[in-house]
Amino acid sequence: MAEERAVDVVVLGSGAAGLAGALRAALLGYDVVVLEKSDVWGGSAAMSAGAVWVPNNAKMGEVGIADSDEDAWAYLEAVTEGAVPAEKRRAFIDGANRMIGTFERETQVRFEPVREYPDYDTDKPGAKPGGRPLEPLPFDGDLLGEDFATLHPCYPGELIFDRFMMRLAEARALLQPGITPKLGLLRGLWQYALRSRSRRRWHGRDPYLTLGQALMARLRAELKTRGVPVRLNTEVRRLLVGASEATGSTTGASEATGSTTGASEATGSTTDDGRVAGVELASGERILARAGVLVATGGFERNDEMRQRYQHHPVEAGWTVGHVGNTGDGLMLAEQAGAVLDTDMMHNCWWSPAVVPPGEPTAWVLVIEKSLPYGFFVDRDGRRFVNEAGNYNNIGKAMYAAQAKTGMAVPAWMIFDSRYRRKFPIGPVKPGMLQPDRKVPERLRPGNGWLHKADTLDALATGIGIPAANLAESVARFNGFAYSGRDLDFGRGSTLNDLHYSDPRVTPNPSLGPIEKAPFYAVEVVPGDLGTKAGLRTDIAGRVLDAGGAPITGLYAAGNVTTSVMGGSYPGAGGTLAPAMTFAFLAVEAMSTDVGTARSRSH
Ligand SMILES: Cc1cc2nc3c(=O)[nH]c(=O)nc-3n(C[C@H](O)[C@H](O)[C@H](O)COP(=O)(O)OP(=O)(O)OC[C@H]3O[C@@H](n4cnc5c(N)ncnc54)[C@H](O)[C@@H]3O)c2cc1C
Repeated sequence: MAEERAVDVVVLGSGAAGLAGALRAALLGYDVVVLEKSDVWGGSAAMSAGAVWVPNNAKMGEVGIADSDEDAWAYLEAVTEGAVPAEKRRAFIDGANRMIGTFERETQVRFEPVREYPDYDTDKPGAKPGGRPLEPLPFDGDLLGEDFATLHPCYPGELIFDRFMMRLAEARALLQPGITPKLGLLRGLWQYALRSRSRRRWHGRDPYLTLGQALMARLRAELKTRGVPVRLNTEVRRLLVGASEATGSTTGASEATGSTTGASEATGSTTDDGRVAGVELASGERILARAGVLVATGGFERNDEMRQRYQHHPVEAGWTVGHVGNTGDGLMLAEQAGAVLDTDMMHNCWWSPAVVPPGEPTAWVLVIEKSLPYGFFVDRDGRRFVNEAGNYNNIGKAMYAAQAKTGMAVPAWMIFDSRYRRKFPIGPVKPGMLQPDRKVPERLRPGNGWLHKADTLDALATGIGIPAANLAESVARFNGFAYSGRDLDFGRGSTLNDLHYSDPRVTPNPSLGPIEKAPFYAVEVVPGDLGTKAGLRTDIAGRVLDAGGAPITGLYAAGNVTTSVMGGSYPGAGGTLAPAMTFAFLAVEAMSTDVGTARSRSH
């Protein structure tokens, strides 16, 4: 007979929402298990920059930036454009602050505010120049013991010289002129050298963790301290729904787990038909959940069939940088329990323009590249269509809007000149001063199909099949804006966010450098993404809703498997991790209210 056990909370997925929810459950005294389908833990969150966007957070004073509930409210109202119910936005603002406060007070999950990281729509009311993104403090992976080996590696673009990580401000400073950034780099290299012994232990992997790696490592370390297991290679086949699924097993099961919370007392009275009572694994093992099941399985960015069905075209699963395990499983599992998919919102992603270099394990997002001087985007007719330095999510939207109008913007092209090439990276290719064309790996070298290069703009246009006259006209107009410092077409370089990644050596506008020094380069750009952001409808506390809008008892969800509190927007750095963690936190608290049995150790 297949094995059966019971815990209080079953969490599906070990990403941001999963581990934050599991930690809240552990803090409340629940017996909790995290089930992860893949052979590594951390989800996309482990690849992320780890910023967590919390408006009006208690730490903003440390960096001298004032915020208020009113400003947070005004900003979210403006960016979400009526797509998100007011009570949900309110739940996010309050809940995010409570989540951060609880973790900071009771665990080793710690953050610092990032002073210079403007909201992405700085022109909207209530926007702030920084402080809302919270960055996890660095963490020593050695402290995780063997679990460090199964932490999902960071996104390759986060490794300096393909070797070590830096903090957000340190990495950004590398683009700046002057001696200070270089000193930071030297310090990083020196400290990296000092870690050679611990690297040997991890087969060359550096245990100094920042960004999303630090966030997930801190969450996992705290769960470890509290005895919460994260089971890898564990795929859920179906949810157990209804009284019959749970009968006969709860008493023994609760004895077997030795749960101390008393959550089991409630099981008998709440296992009405339709209640989600647990999960069945692909192995046949059943795990009953006395308080609830939290679905935190990420989006469906890696499911090409779903993308074709629900999203704007053209689209390909290969354009995402999201986790390979994010194939929409949670959506399908929850549907079996009566949830309905929010198909009106499922075209949305956390977009970013991206390139898809051949032979790379992932697409590369152009979060930084798109904003730097001496380059711009054109459609396949050779025309500009967007403020390239703007909010990267909005660029994804603009690409599809332009595609709908002209049929020419997906894919588009990034065009840049030799000064860009020398100073700045493009996807996996490092700045030419570090990696000249002849040192670029052959598959990525100019002339081999991905990176295009020509001595004149006309030849470049011909090589990539766009009208040379249109490209010449677009470049001439853009260069005029670069000389005057004002982009009269799209306003590039006019907001704080536009200037976040720019080059202060370029005047009069650090975001606008003319494209004029041969040779010229081009690379194809697609609307890539960090993940999808809609699916399950949830209430303000992460309860999954059925077709009639009523909560499905026992079923909770958070993160990219749910329809986002951000609607179609991306408010600032950390705008995806913050809601994922917040609604997971709130969902577990809702379980304790719903079951009525949590014995909080934290209050
Ligand atoms: C390169 C990069 C940079 C980013 N930077 C930022 C940033 O700085 N700030 C920010 O806010 N966001 C950032 N993001 C986005 C952010 O990482 C995601 O939006 C966030 O991680 C989503 O959290 P989640 O818990 O929903 O999913 P994930 O973190 O992706 O976790 C989902 C997990 O569920 C697992 N899973 C899937 N199906 C099953 C199943 N059936 N059973 C069990 N487990 C399953 C997956 O394998 C995965 O491990 C970035 C993303 C990337 C890729």
